[in-house]
Amino acid sequence: MFPTIFTKHNIEFDPTKCVGCGLCYKACFVDVIRWDAENRKPVFKYVEDCEHCFYCQSVCKKEAIRVVPNYASERLLQSFPQYK
Ligand code: SF4
Ligand code: SF4
Repeated sequence: MFPTIFTKHNIEFDPTKCVGCGLCYKACFVDVIRWDAENRKPVFKYVEDCEHCFYCQSVCKKEAIRVVPNYASERLLQSFPQYK
């Protein structure tokens, strides 16, 4: 068996601080953050795909986003065939 690390992340979002600039949506290189054009707010859609790169948190000048990795429940399948 290969080692398995379980990943689960939390993203905290405070809509009262959000000014609808859309930078977090543009920053997310995976499909975690979608954009609600009508309400001008990010939608955190596929949180399980979060790579906890912190880009969204970094670009948000209003500190409306906080990425909270849960390292205790990491879910990341790693294969090391050389250690079979
Ligand atoms: S970067 Fe911050 S202020 Fe801009 S849309 Fe995202 S959460 Fe809102
Ligand atoms: S931490 Fe990275 S991958 Fe996760 S939602 Fe933010 S920009 Fe997307």
